[in-house]
Amino acid sequence: MMMVKDYLDGLKNGRIPGSRCKRCGNVMFPLKPVCSDCGSFDLNELQSKGKGVVRSCTVIYAAPVRLKDSAPYVVGLIKLEEGASIMGRIIGTDPDHPDDIKAGTKVKFEPLKQGDEIVVAFRPQQ
Ligand SMILES: [Zn+2]
Repeated sequence: MMMVKDYLDGLKNGRIPGSRCKRCGNVMFPLKPVCSDCGSFDLNELQSKGKGVVRSCTVIYAAPVRLKDSAPYVVGLIKLEEGASIMGRIIGTDPDHPDDIKAGTKVKFEPLKQGDEIVVAFRPQQ
């Protein structure tokens, strides 16, 4: 079983640790201890290279207190090449012009330092 530290190390190294269910093939990002489809605990580790496309996105104006200084910012649901979707920040785009990011926009994972934390973020690709 991967620990939180392994997960964060993965993020720092530009990969998103995930899980694939050995029983039903369900793919999950970020990694999970149990399959969200069939409930199996028999999972393999899977690393996403972090390439994907935007499925939907939204601008956050009212951020949680610890992210107050970052607002407004863009978050999106990203469909990864490996086949599952993950929520993440979308960086390198102007929150005042969220129309620049559309469903289908290609993005690449980038670890984003947020205070002491590393969070999942994606940058649009040309
Ligand atoms: Zn399963």
